[in-house]
Amino acid sequence: MISDVVKPDTLKKLDPVFGQHSFNDHEQVVFCQDKDTGLKAIIGIHNTVLGPALGGTRMWQYANEWEALNDVLRLSRGMTYKSAITGLNLGGGKAVIIGDAKTQKNPELMKRFGEFVHSLGGKYITAEDVGMETADMDLVREVTPHVTGISEAKGGAGNPSPITAYGVYMGMKAAAKYQYGSDDLEGKKVVVQGIGHVGESLVEHLTKEGANVIIADINEERLQAVSQKYGATIFTGNDLYGTSMDIYAPCALGATINDDTIHKLQASIVAGAANNQLADEVKHGALLKDRGIAYAPDFLINAGGIINVYAELEGYGKDEIIAKTENIYNTTLEIFAHSETKGTTTHEAALNIAQGRIDARKKEQNS
Ligand code: NAD
Repeated sequence: MISDVVKPDTLKKLDPVFGQHSFNDHEQVVFCQDKDTGLKAIIGIHNTVLGPALGGTRMWQYANEWEALNDVLRLSRGMTYKSAITGLNLGGGKAVIIGDAKTQKNPELMKRFGEFVHSLGGKYITAEDVGMETADMDLVREVTPHVTGISEAKGGAGNPSPITAYGVYMGMKAAAKYQYGSDDLEGKKVVVQGIGHVGESLVEHLTKEGANVIIADINEERLQAVSQKYGATIFTGNDLYGTSMDIYAPCALGATINDDTIHKLQASIVAGAANNQLADEVKHGALLKDRGIAYAPDFLINAGGIINVYAELEGYGKDEIIAKTENIYNTTLEIFAHSETKGTTTHEAALNIAQGRIDARKKEQNS
């Protein structure tokens, strides 16, 4: 007899959203498709307790739709905690457009995407992320007001990357204060992996302070240009993680702290701009702690960009953007102290404080 009872492993495949490991109490996930422009996008709204879900749109050639869904779920959850720990009245959201930004992005597609954002009535506010430029956000702005990161000429706060880099620099200095007793980075050997928009600006701060900066990138031209401009040394070995260093600053891709790299890592501090640096936040967070490596949580120290776009919504200027970004230094020190008192990882400590803020607001709303 053929049974029509679905076997458990098949069931798992039939649970693409709530059953995903990365589905963590998300409020809403929106799949957007437009045949005329070829748009395929997913908008993830993780939490809107503190305010509208704000987060950038990433355009990427994912290997498959599962990978895209997983990415948007992980990223939108990260945005909730990033805004909460930074003290912003924003929730967490993110969007992904499936496709190659170099060949498949065009104004019609961006505007169609903007219409989908508009249909959510302000519950989700978009911005730029990997594969997006300020000009793309200007196109989205033509069809919806629910977008930030637009050009300064159109009333936006402009390029967020230098502010993000400044926040990472603040977080790194706080980690140095905690780990070495002084936040002076002069003479410290810092490996900056990825010298794009954020990485280059971070190299500038570090070389100005007299740090011994080593740069790594897959783009040879950028390596030569950044090395010449700031006098940074280009990494030439085969094993970046195993090389001797004081500070590792991941500024390229996420998940570089993983089973393959964590035991090799020579640094005593990890502080960088990349999102989701820990492949497994529980396991790898604990392993870093066990090894005595001070980890400045990514979602805390890379919040400069969101502070910058939040200014567009709240109408504050550059001085307040800088002051809020500088405060990342104090918050990072608080997180190290909290993690030590409570015996948790720094990642957990930051999540707990952020969650506490969300829970308190929810209680207020329900009372
Ligand atoms: P970017 O695309 O300008 O730069 C990334 C750089 O990393 C590029 O130079 C690229 O060649 C390099 N790279 C890619 N793969 C690499 C690899 N395997 N090894 C070494 N280098 C590699 O991106 P960005 O705007 O500078 O952002 C960097 C990271 O910071 C991203 O993870 C991004 O999500 C995160 N972030 C950026 C901002 C922001 O304001 N731009 C805000 C928060 C978080």
